Amino acid sequence: MFDVRNPATGTTVGTYPVHTIADVDAAVRRAHRAADWWGALGFAERAKYLDAWRAEITRGRADLAQVMHDEMGKPISDAKLEIAMALEHLKWAARNAEKVLGRRPVPSSLLTINQAAWVEHRPFGVVGVIGPWNYPVFTPLSSVAFALAAGNTAVFKPSEYSPGVGLWLAAAFARVSPQQSVLQVVTGLGETGAALCRSNVGKIGFTGSTDTGKRVMAACAERLTPVLMECGGKDALIVDADADLDAAADAAVWGGMSNAGQTCLGVERVYVHEAVYAEFVDKLVRLAGGLRAGGDAKIGPITMPKQIDVIRRHIEDAIARGATALLGGIDAIDGQFIQPTILVDVPEDALAVTEETFGPTLTVAKVANMDEAIKHVNSGPYGLGGTVFSRRNGHQIADRIRAGGTSINAFVAHATIPTLPLGGVGGSGFGRVHGPDGLKEFTYAKATTQQRFPSPLALTTFARSTTIDAVVDRLVSVLHGRSR
Ligand code: NDP
Repeated sequence: MFDVRNPATGTTVGTYPVHTIADVDAAVRRAHRAADWWGALGFAERAKYLDAWRAEITRGRADLAQVMHDEMGKPISDAKLEIAMALEHLKWAARNAEKVLGRRPVPSSLLTINQAAWVEHRPFGVVGVIGPWNYPVFTPLSSVAFALAAGNTAVFKPSEYSPGVGLWLAAAFARVSPQQSVLQVVTGLGETGAALCRSNVGKIGFTGSTDTGKRVMAACAERLTPVLMECGGKDALIVDADADLDAAADAAVWGGMSNAGQTCLGVERVYVHEAVYAEFVDKLVRLAGGLRAGGDAKIGPITMPKQIDVIRRHIEDAIARGATALLGGIDAIDGQFIQPTILVDVPEDALAVTEETFGPTLTVAKVANMDEAIKHVNSGPYGLGGTVFSRRNGHQIADRIRAGGTSINAFVAHATIPTLPLGGVGGSGFGRVHGPDGLKEFTYAKATTQQRFPSPLALTTFARSTTIDAVVDRLVSVLHGRSR
């Protein structure tokens, strides 16, 4: 068994079993049995269950938000916002799975004109989902909802910091489908997640840190189990000379400080055109200075006790290397609460610029032009998201950012639009959740052909004549021998 403690108060809010390899394997076996039923239902019937689940979550959202708050400290109103965003994606997945994944005819070619051809996307059967604690509803549902809509059943291993949230979601599903184990939760520590990676699942959807992601991939490699990797980030916000500075400062503060900075797509670095740097920093410090971290404040506690050391190390390293804290700093750390911290004049190779901090901190740097900003943004291993503020040049700047998504003149909008894919490049992972890509992620493409009539050019037979060889040879020359 293991305890979950409220990070704000230290009190135990739940005790859960550490599921063993045998427990995980048994859950996966049950999931396979349920997959036969769930897969055979078809898209329209599955959508009814998913819609009923969505209604169940919606009705219970106040209760679910309370569990999120108790386990990982997120303010209740932010927890409700997270649930609302997750419901949008759940609805989209249920409504669009058939259109994206269903069987459809595709054209053949001149040489294969006698064949009819179809493609469809089939479920793997059982998908394992491993999730983090920082968005304990939004991130796992980004995998679970799309895996289920595609026709898979799922076994979900939530973070050891938020198992109650995972169990709440599975219990809500069980109320709409009591007979079948369509969505199960296994609880435990890292070893339980590793057992899921080594179990008989068709794919693992992982969301978590880059280091754990590498361990997950290594475990999955043993059975050649494919993986979706939604990993860490070090996202930046760029402010061009023509930006709306009030909007940019508001986005930087929310992007950097909401969820106490514990956001994969959170703003950790800001690069500002020198023409507006002073004015922007002034607005930023004023806005962030009006915020407070506390038990019932808009900024909650740091969830993981060990993360405090990481944040302290990043602030200390920056200051030792000549940075200035315009707000907060080392003194801003008080137990599990960290007050908003804004650092300027931080060297580009300082830890606060190169590594994921995951706290309510921002580094702000002055740049001579957008070329310099983009060079800094694209340095480093991560490439998850990013934000650009500019009235005229947003697209030109966004197009040069190496990341899975960029939002112009708003923070994180690309993660909230159901039709858009979400994911990273480089150290931020690969594969996509959300949108059509997110549905296909939990399927394999199946190709089928049917001969409509015997080909006048029978190619795949030992009976192929030298005349046919000559005709094909001429055709190949005509079809492929000339560049346009
Ligand atoms: P971790 O990498 O510590 O854990 C993620 C999950 O993996 C947890 O459920 C954890 O279980 C489990 N796990 C740990 N060890 C293993 C293992 N050896 N095999 C299988 N599973 C294992 O991440 P956090 O939970 O701390 O989440 C924060 C991280 O997630 C940040 O880096 C953040 O950027 C990233 N993230 C990425 C997102 C994206 O969309 N790209 C979205 C949200 C977060 P346990 O907790 O029990 O150890």
